[in-house]
Amino acid sequence: METLAQQFSSYFSIAPDVIAQAPGRVNLIGEHIDYSDGYVLPFAIKDVTMVAISRRDDREIHIRSIQRPGDLNLTSLDELSPQTGQIWARYPLGVIWAIAGLDDQHHLTGLNILIDGKVPLGAGLSSSAALECSIATALNELFDLNLSLTELAWLTQRAENDYVGMPCGIMDQSISLMGKAGSALLLDTRDLSTEAIPFEIASAGLELLIIDTQAHHALVDGGYAERRASCEKAVADLGITSLRDISVDDFYAQGTLLDQTTFIRARHAVTEMQRVLDAVAVLKARDFISLGKLLNQSHASLRDDYTVSCPELDLAVSVSQSQGALGARMVGGGFGGSAIALIKVESAPKIREAITTAFAKHGFTSPRFFNSLPSDGAKILH
Ligand code: ADP
Ligand code: MG
Repeated sequence: METLAQQFSSYFSIAPDVIAQAPGRVNLIGEHIDYSDGYVLPFAIKDVTMVAISRRDDREIHIRSIQRPGDLNLTSLDELSPQTGQIWARYPLGVIWAIAGLDDQHHLTGLNILIDGKVPLGAGLSSSAALECSIATALNELFDLNLSLTELAWLTQRAENDYVGMPCGIMDQSISLMGKAGSALLLDTRDLSTEAIPFEIASAGLELLIIDTQAHHALVDGGYAERRASCEKAVADLGITSLRDISVDDFYAQGTLLDQTTFIRARHAVTEMQRVLDAVAVLKARDFISLGKLLNQSHASLRDDYTVSCPELDLAVSVSQSQGALGARMVGGGFGGSAIALIKVESAPKIREAITTAFAKHGFTSPRFFNSLPSDGAKILH
């Protein structure tokens, strides 16, 4: 099989100057709170997006993706403007645009870029962050930008928020850049400080099953922005600076200030932040039974209060639970994508089969299964 460098050379008739990779992620717990200054607990998965890049003598930008055969996105450094370019190419273009907009005058040149993504696209495993972070890591090296991981996280988030037009939080980019093998990362989305929390489930006879429901509801749409707006309204109506600053008890005491929809949306955020801290405590005690219960509570909150689940996700979760999972929940933005289930290794075949059968019975597209232990974040390969 041809390597990415060989494929790059056959497309662009030149060798790449740099090759980098960045992983997708799953979030153990702490969903839809990274834009409310919350704590989240994701880990990087083993599947990565790789990019090969070479400098050009002119100012043109040529981008190809193995996952978009036949498509060449051709533009120039002087034409970069938010929400231009083919949709898939906006992720790398956004990163280049964000770098071009940094205060320091960086001597960007035109670029040839070839992308090969092994993170399933649109499955809730953050192929978008994997793509942005692999590009940012490669360009940081190629142009000696010396940007820290934190700076790269803000920069890639800006690319997705302002160039792609998707108001995502900072979690996906942070974990794709900062992941550590063997650990989940407690990430404080307020200042991007982190603590590695060992997630050694294999030695306890457990695995984290990832169920890609194959239901795809694109996230660049109103559903996400509407939830985010509800949280901002709650903050304004409660007169606080962020939902991070109110305890669960105080929230219930002051919740009468909020209209009903704002209250139940914000209740998800406030209780989910507490569940993340509880999850860290039980993980430190290697109490996986309690971790499973927290996953179940998180799903119920996302389904009932935040209403970002969908029938396919609910089915994957409920079948996992009824087949003996310690806990299960939807992950990612919702409206499709993946669920996770914390299961005993020996029950994996039975649970997979039960989910596949239930999906067929409901007329849903057959789900895909993955599992991954916590892996390292972005790196330069060449
Ligand atoms: P997720 O991040 O959960 O995978 P998103 O909808 O946020 O889902 O991002 C997926 C989009 O990112 C794809 O539809 C495509 O536009 C772009 N993308 C990600 N990886 C690649 C790739 N390898 N090649 C081309 N486009 C990609
Ligand atoms: Mg994404």
